[in-house]
Amino acid sequence: MKKFILPLLCISFSALGQSKLRSEIDKQARAVEPKVIEWRRDFHQHPELGNQEVRTAKIVADHLRALGMEVTEQVAVTGVVGVLKGGKPGPMVALRADMDALPVTERVDLPFKSTVTTTFAGQQTGVMHACGHDSHTAILMGVAEVMAAMKDQLQGSVKFIFQPAEEGVSDVDMAGAELMVKEGVMTDVDAVFGLHIWAQIEAGKIGYRPGPTMAAVDILGIDVHGTQSHGAAPWSGVDPVVTSAQIVTGLQTILSRSVNVTENPAVVSVGAIHGGIRHNIIPEKVEMIGTIRTFGDEQQALVHRRITQIATHIAESAGARADVNITRLYPSTVNDPQLTAQMLPSLESAAGKENVILMDPMTGSEDFSFFQREKPGVFVFLGGMKPGADPLKTPSHHTPDFYLDESGFILGVKALSYLVVDYMGSKK
Ligand SMILES: [Zn+2]
Ligand SMILES: [Zn+2]
Repeated sequence: MKKFILPLLCISFSALGQSKLRSEIDKQARAVEPKVIEWRRDFHQHPELGNQEVRTAKIVADHLRALGMEVTEQVAVTGVVGVLKGGKPGPMVALRADMDALPVTERVDLPFKSTVTTTFAGQQTGVMHACGHDSHTAILMGVAEVMAAMKDQLQGSVKFIFQPAEEGVSDVDMAGAELMVKEGVMTDVDAVFGLHIWAQIEAGKIGYRPGPTMAAVDILGIDVHGTQSHGAAPWSGVDPVVTSAQIVTGLQTILSRSVNVTENPAVVSVGAIHGGIRHNIIPEKVEMIGTIRTFGDEQQALVHRRITQIATHIAESAGARADVNITRLYPSTVNDPQLTAQMLPSLESAAGKENVILMDPMTGSEDFSFFQREKPGVFVFLGGMKPGADPLKTPSHHTPDFYLDESGFILGVKALSYLVVDYMGSKK
């Protein structure tokens, strides 16, 4: 019987330690909440596009430095990384926030509304934090303040990653996360956590999903080459317009006949078809572009293979040729199933068990996936919708009417802080 006393005592001491840390976090989070809201409003009023987050990055770097962290600036162009060394040895836990805004003209009437304008892709446009990255940056600055106040009690270190250009800069430029990984930001990290505010989830709630959570995004390009002819004599050429129409229809069978619909969804959409110039000329070439969304490497490989087979063989059967060109942008955001299960109680104690929702997979994409490909990571969704509002009538991300209820931010501060101390506690 005696043998069991010591382990039991250790467990209860450590449980006691964790609950002490959590109540300290609650206290610190309440204290920092007004600042988080103030920082967010300031960022909202001064949005900066990807790789141009100079003002934002300076505010972040000054804040981390004032908290006594080692700070590296200009990581992956405009990124900032701060390391907080805990008072006790232990793992390195990374937390990530993205800082970039979008070329969207704000329509919401707020005292801190953005009036910033720019030229983007040759067009005059407003700049707006229409995806809520302003809140991510402010929340993570809040977490930094909470963790710094408790640093002597931390059993490990925290790496604060403020990432630029999550939305990408152009179709060819590397995403901010990918470049940060290339610059070695993940090498000394044991686990990584991040969140995205979500305008369709009520403030005070957290959404999560183990395994593939957000889709991989790839750009699809198909060029169909035929032989030009008079529109009145199609038999004298090879018509790439009819061939393209067959290819678009053929692509629909990938989701209905090749993908196991009981596992994960997938999307193949053709968004633009260009070819021809006149009613009586059958053109030589038709160009199609589209988007591919898949969940997990295996499904992605299957969908890519089927697209190529369908396009090239349909073209061949018509005597035409299809060149398929797939550009990979972001891989699927995959939450490590074991780590997600391990950390679920932390989310539940931060939000209350009934406020943690298991979500459906999302066909949107996130470059947080690049961090997760290096080390186990969990990415969750934080409610940003006014409680009681109808999610279907709430303006979605990337639109001029996008709006956030700030009352949910404190939960973001608490949840990330709980994840850090609980993860560290589990590695003792
Ligand atoms: Zn976005
Ligand atoms: Zn976003």
